[in-house]
Amino acid sequence: MLISVVVPCMNEEASVPYLVERLTQTIAPYGARAEILLVDDGSSDDTWAEIQRAGQSCPQLRGIRLSANRGHQVALTAGLEAAKGERIFMLDADLQDPPELLGDMMGMMDRGYDVVYGRRKERQGETVFKRATAWMFYRALNAMSDIEIPRDTGDFRLVSRKALDAVLSMPERARFVRGMFAWAGFSQVGIEYTRAPRELGETKYPLRKMMRFAVDAMTAFSTKPLKFATRMSFASLAFSFLMMIYVMHSLIVYQTAPGWASVVLVISLFSGVQLLTLGILGEYIGRLYVEAKNRPLYFVSEDTRSAETLPLRKVV
Ligand code: UDP
Ligand code: MG
Repeated sequence: MLISVVVPCMNEEASVPYLVERLTQTIAPYGARAEILLVDDGSSDDTWAEIQRAGQSCPQLRGIRLSANRGHQVALTAGLEAAKGERIFMLDADLQDPPELLGDMMGMMDRGYDVVYGRRKERQGETVFKRATAWMFYRALNAMSDIEIPRDTGDFRLVSRKALDAVLSMPERARFVRGMFAWAGFSQVGIEYTRAPRELGETKYPLRKMMRFAVDAMTAFSTKPLKFATRMSFASLAFSFLMMIYVMHSLIVYQTAPGWASVVLVISLFSGVQLLTLGILGEYIGRLYVEAKNRPLYFVSEDTRSAETLPLRKVV
């Protein structure tokens, strides 16, 4: 099997027939060496029936139906786990990402890249709100996280078996697939494209899901929010130190200090101490969190000796 195409679908009954048609054309050059995996993420419409119907005329199509709606990233993961290809192509069901880019991405991969991701140069037909929040999201994410996650890049990408196996070996439950590929490493490159408007149906990402997605992404790749209390405690303690000088000065010069100053001093001093304690807790919780994710320490990208001669090392 050469190529697996993985598409998560939730309430995409209108898109599925067009999607399958476009994908069949795109993978035609690869014939039987390609498979299409459509994952029905607990749809409440006729998505599953449409997938089954499309499968009757397209032998390369395989449908997988999840027992309930588990979210875009989990549905995508389910498809990636089922994929058998040497190269795995993922895209959205609504055809916002042009499947025809597969040819270019294959070309890049032939040159040795393990991950070829699509970078949105322009987003057509999306609301100002969606564009603005997406813009802020990718910038905030990069400011916070400890790794470089490509900006304006969705899950639309072609990845090698090596990179995919690395990501699938990461056991965390809160999955932010594009970030996991960034973290996994290997050689990566982006291709710019214009994101088309959604052809049929409407967005499956209401504000509530977008917020959940953003929180998952930011907490999965950074423990910086936990360090917030530590930073605040420094500010509070510095302020109480200044107040202390002021109160001492008043006591020495006028033999008395204004009542408000002593109160402010005590409040800022103790909130500083409390924030510092919270910050220390945060540091430990952050470490627990990183340990609990139990990610592999490293992945081997290449080895001058073949895997057989090194039976004890797992070569991903
Ligand atoms: N999707 C899914 N489960 C969900 C939400 C979305 O499988 O809970 C799928 C959806 O069918 C589509 C992809 O994820 O194939 C991206 O969703 P959408 O196009 O609605 O997001 P947008 O492009 O508006 O950000
Ligand atoms: Mg979309």
